[in-house]
Amino acid sequence: MTPPRVDVVCIGSIARDGFNIVEAHSTCTLVRTKKHVMLVDTSDRAYRQRLLDGLAGIGVAPEEVDILVNTHSHSDHNSNNRLFTNATLYSHVLDPPPSPFQAMQGVNLEIDEKVRLVHTPGHSPGSISVFVDAEARTVIAGDAIPTQDNYLKDVPPAHHTDLAMAVESMHRIISWADRVVPGHGPMFVVKH
Ligand SMILES: [Zn+2]
Repeated sequence: MTPPRVDVVCIGSIARDGFNIVEAHSTCTLVRTKKHVMLVDTSDRAYRQRLLDGLAGIGVAPEEVDILVNTHSHSDHNSNNRLFTNATLYSHVLDPPPSPFQAMQGVNLEIDEKVRLVHTPGHSPGSISVFVDAEARTVIAGDAIPTQDNYLKDVPPAHHTDLAMAVESMHRIISWADRVVPGHGPMFVVKH
């Protein structure tokens, strides 16, 4: 059986001035399985065209996306939801998407046998991550791991609602994953 395919279609970024975030655009990731075309996060308006170009670059039309995941409710992760008119949206009930979107409860849910939505709280109460048993074990972490720097320095997200949970979620992801797609920036490799 062919493993799921993971493509980062829009590389997000984050700019800080000390503790304050000046600018933030989320990374968006496409997971293709035998049955589904799933997009994880939709970034913000400024990155709309990048997202569309990234999908076009691998030959995927927005209408083909049948599952949309919002890792959490911050607007830099979900502001292009409306492009995906054929998708069923999943998020955590504690992190609902903006109106008028309605989401299915997406926790501890198997999209198929190799793709799981996992509750990884701490950055926000309802943060979820997507665990994909691809060729390499890949976790699309949202802001449970905002950047590669958080991993390298072993520091949890600077912005969090629960520090202990944020630390636990990060370690849970790192202990399983060979590769991580952070909330902002490109995919990186985990050294075990
Ligand atoms: Zn966030």
